[in-house]
Amino acid sequence: MNPGSGAPLLLAAALLLASPARAVEVVRISVAAGAAEADLSGPGLAVEPLREGAVRQPVAGGRARLRLDGERLLLDGKAVDGAGLLFSSSGSIRCAGRELSGEVEVRRAQGGLSVIDVLPMEDYVGAVIGGEMPPSFPPEALKAQAVAARSFAVRKKIEAREQALDFDLGSTVLDQVYPGSGRADPRARAAALATAGEVLVKDHLIVEAYFHSACGGRTERGADALGRDLPYLASVPCERCQGSPAFRWTLRLPAAEVGKAAGLPGEAKQVVVQRTTSTGRAARVSVEGGGAKVVLDGVEFRRRLGYDRLPSLAFTVKPVDGAFLLTGKGRGHGAGMCQWGAAGWARAGADYRAILSRYYPGAEITRMY
Ligand SMILES: [Zn+2]
Repeated sequence: MNPGSGAPLLLAAALLLASPARAVEVVRISVAAGAAEADLSGPGLAVEPLREGAVRQPVAGGRARLRLDGERLLLDGKAVDGAGLLFSSSGSIRCAGRELSGEVEVRRAQGGLSVIDVLPMEDYVGAVIGGEMPPSFPPEALKAQAVAARSFAVRKKIEAREQALDFDLGSTVLDQVYPGSGRADPRARAAALATAGEVLVKDHLIVEAYFHSACGGRTERGADALGRDLPYLASVPCERCQGSPAFRWTLRLPAAEVGKAAGLPGEAKQVVVQRTTSTGRAARVSVEGGGAKVVLDGVEFRRRLGYDRLPSLAFTVKPVDGAFLLTGKGRGHGAGMCQWGAAGWARAGADYRAILSRYYPGAEITRMY
């Protein structure tokens, strides 16, 4: 997002979210797109067409099969008028491998069916926390995660409405992992409800509340980790993520794997961190072997090896027998909130407001709705 577009963004947020016609803040999540067919089931499943004056009717057997036949949308073999259908249930609706709460829209869209879960924002936030942080973390850490996740969702919702999209967010890692809200952990749900409507704001803008698993001691600047040079994504000391299994780590990378990742013709013979960021993370890495030399940006080096394979860019490297031994700390890009640090601070007595102000310096918590 272009930070310059911020002022209208927040104004739009105020208008959008203060609408008196809507008692509950809702969010629209795309859970399937481009499929040729979709099955929905749930207790007391009912359906109505997406048009004015439509009447809701029960679905026989609590199970609906939708199929796209050219331009026509078929419900159990019968053509549907209008843009699509809205399903509701007395419990959760099962679709696309997820348990969904709220209502589910199925629309005809370019390239196939579009399935959208329309649900209260706090149900969404509760489900997302469960996908991003262990629910066994202390309640104040879960609340901090709730405010970060909600800030992200509200930003995306405002952008989507400005662009007149059918949905606000996807359900994958490209946005936030949404595993479905039908089975959200009660501790995660409680954290969402306890912070209902709260988002992080800086200079009248909703902040880009990035987070990561563990920083290993000090967080990274947004500019270095993500190319996002924002005042609240400053590097701060953490001092509380020692509980993370990745607080300190070693990794043995075979020379052939490094050579392949770097795009060399053969095994890597030498790996050198040529430059580090202000926090000591690798900013430029050179890899030599087979008569060639490749110099990579640190972030690109990690992407090529795999984000799971190389836990972070805070490492030193030395050659060992046919391989390279990396000794490092932390997991993730390092910018914004350190999740294990948030847990550590919560155990030390900090509340979620103190945790958020530590990891997003200068940002303030505002209740948006
Ligand atoms: Zn940390």
